Amino acid sequence: MRKPIIVGNWKMNKTIAEATAFFAGVEGELHEDAEFGVGAPFTALKDAVGAAKGLFVAAQNVHFEDSGAYTGEVSLPMLLEIGVKWVILGHSERRQYFNESDEAINKKAKKCFASGVTPIICCGETLEQFEAGLTESVVRRQVAACLDGFSVDDVKKLVIAYEPIWAIGTGKNATKEIAQTTCAIVRDEVAVHFGKEAAEACRVQYGGSVKPDNIAEYMAEPDIDGALIGGASLKVDSFLAIVNAVKK
Ligand code: 13P
Repeated sequence: MRKPIIVGNWKMNKTIAEATAFFAGVEGELHEDAEFGVGAPFTALKDAVGAAKGLFVAAQNVHFEDSGAYTGEVSLPMLLEIGVKWVILGHSERRQYFNESDEAINKKAKKCFASGVTPIICCGETLEQFEAGLTESVVRRQVAACLDGFSVDDVKKLVIAYEPIWAIGTGKNATKEIAQTTCAIVRDEVAVHFGKEAAEACRVQYGGSVKPDNIAEYMAEPDIDGALIGGASLKVDSFLAIVNAVKK
């Protein structure tokens, strides 16, 4: 059985003080029916790791080299030093605004596994691709390229987030049918390359305008193991409403 996994992606939001207040607000309110985490900005990570009780803290990016002349970048040894064990990789905003490629995501993810850090790898199509009926081919290509050369054991630990770009921050969430169909395609592509056992162990999330009032319908789908949540993860109230909605 795959344990559900609910992760907030704070993006470029929250000072240290705001992050710490969030963790104080959710303390004691989480439960064991799902795994919970939040992706915090780099500056808040150290304090977040200290303040988070009952949920993990993820970085939102990492470089694939340990050190060197890469202005503005942060490495895995730096994250490990402050206790960060999860990294969100390949979010569509990083692909779109920072030219992040499947190849770079693949290198970063391999480095994460070698360091004992778990990546959450994002994939998803643009509105134009969706309207042209290209969702399946785009997502299969992204999954195959991002996971190229992983070991079966790595794939079993991996989390993949399917986030259609047209549903991110737009309030236009994908229907549960679209989300289920595409998450099943993601899992099938994992099976093509790594076998059925690895594909059954790997967790696949849906992301894109997930809210307290729609989380339950996604979680009822067989291939959706959780959610990656932007806007609704920023406030304690809405995050906890989602936490409570996934209680068995
Ligand atoms: P929203 O939940 O704000 O649509 O963001 C989704 C997302 O990008 C999570 O990574």
